[in-house]
Amino acid sequence: MMTTPSFPTTTYDLAIVGAGVVGLAHAYLAASAGLRVVVIERDGAANGASVRNFGFITVTGQKRGEFYQLARRSRAIWQTVIAELGLRAEHEGLYMCVRRPESEAILDAFLRTEMGEGCRLLAPSELPIPLSLDVRRVLHSPHEVRLESRDVIPQVAENLRRRLGVDFLYHCTALDVSHGQIATSLGTVRARSVVVCQGDNLSGVFASRLPSFGVSRCKLQMLRLASPGYRLPGSIMSDLGLVRYLGYSELDEAAALKIRLESEQPQHLKAGVHLIVVQGTDGSLVVGDSHSYDHTPDPFGLEAIDDLILDEYRQVLGAPPPVLERWIGTYAVSDQQLYFIDTPDTDVRHVVVTCGAGASTAFGIAEKTLSSLGVELHATIVG
Ligand SMILES: Cc1cc2nc3c(=O)[nH]c(=O)nc-3n(C[C@H](O)[C@H](O)[C@H](O)COP(=O)(O)OP(=O)(O)OC[C@H]3O[C@@H](n4cnc5c(N)ncnc54)[C@H](O)[C@@H]3O)c2cc1C
Repeated sequence: MMTTPSFPTTTYDLAIVGAGVVGLAHAYLAASAGLRVVVIERDGAANGASVRNFGFITVTGQKRGEFYQLARRSRAIWQTVIAELGLRAEHEGLYMCVRRPESEAILDAFLRTEMGEGCRLLAPSELPIPLSLDVRRVLHSPHEVRLESRDVIPQVAENLRRRLGVDFLYHCTALDVSHGQIATSLGTVRARSVVVCQGDNLSGVFASRLPSFGVSRCKLQMLRLASPGYRLPGSIMSDLGLVRYLGYSELDEAAALKIRLESEQPQHLKAGVHLIVVQGTDGSLVVGDSHSYDHTPDPFGLEAIDDLILDEYRQVLGAPPPVLERWIGTYAVSDQQLYFIDTPDTDVRHVVVTCGAGASTAFGIAEKTLSSLGVELHATIVG
């Protein structure tokens, strides 16, 4: 565990609230541009969505237009970060394995859009893993990368501290931001600019501004399974993902699949279940997930929902290996926008990703935030 330095008296160029992936993305870009940066984190380490997710940096399937471009940009920056900080990429690419003709029609339509660039269709037999005989076709996307978030997020923080001189104040809750001063539970931090990245903390700094962004929270159930005894070639998804991820579900062709799934898998749809399977270094699989919505989600995992997730796993990959871990994660959601950069004051920004794609878009969003604060980004990262 990193040691917290004695409380600083420095006036920083930039203070960031929150050591999740969004806060760290801002810290990395700002420190790389030569700014003196401090990160204020209420816990002893990031412990929210950023370490509970799949670590699936996803491009294909993100909403067409600006958000898709943010994901492309973030993926490119992740590539630099992975190389520069010596992080381990578990696997690359996405394999969308579909079992229905309606899903094949979506994949064909997707490939006709600009988002299909670099993607192609495969026969199930082309994958080096035992897929269910029901799988008819596979969309391969080369853009994705998978990181073991619970390892990588602390590694990024430690690298920022060691290599780029970023200060971290842990066990330190930001209470208020005003005129270059951040009042915290441990004292006052001074900074020329402030970026607040509190994730789904809906009662934190600037809570009174959240209603205008329609922010609530989404709860997800996740599982870790034992190694299946083979390596995945990349992340695996299935038909259910085609009606959740906006890059597919907003295509006209998705209407027919929605109707079919409503009759064939109504419980999965009701619980917001779709399938993502990714793999770690030790061969274990992270498998999920489900989606339920509430301002204050309950903390309980339902066995019936895990069963639905495992049922979908079985339909694609056969009998699931034993369950090793179960956990719940939450993230901020809104039906008004996918993310926002609020400006409570001239030199203050409040950044929230209000959908389940913060790991995939954090760097692209951070570039926008920092540009709006007049930060000149490092040339090699600007690309
Ligand atoms: C189960 C699950 C699976 C997901 N899968 C993916 C995926 O595969 N790919 C993807 O792109 N996205 C995924 N997401 C979404 C993604 O994880 C989130 O969008 C992203 O992690 C949000 O990052 P964040 O830094 O904003 O929030 P967080 O990770 O919640 O970090 C916010 C940090 O701020 C701190 N904080 C809050 N308030 C204060 C305060 N007042 N003072 C000090 N510190 C404070 C918190 O302690 C926390 O560490 C998933 C999310 C979940 C829950």
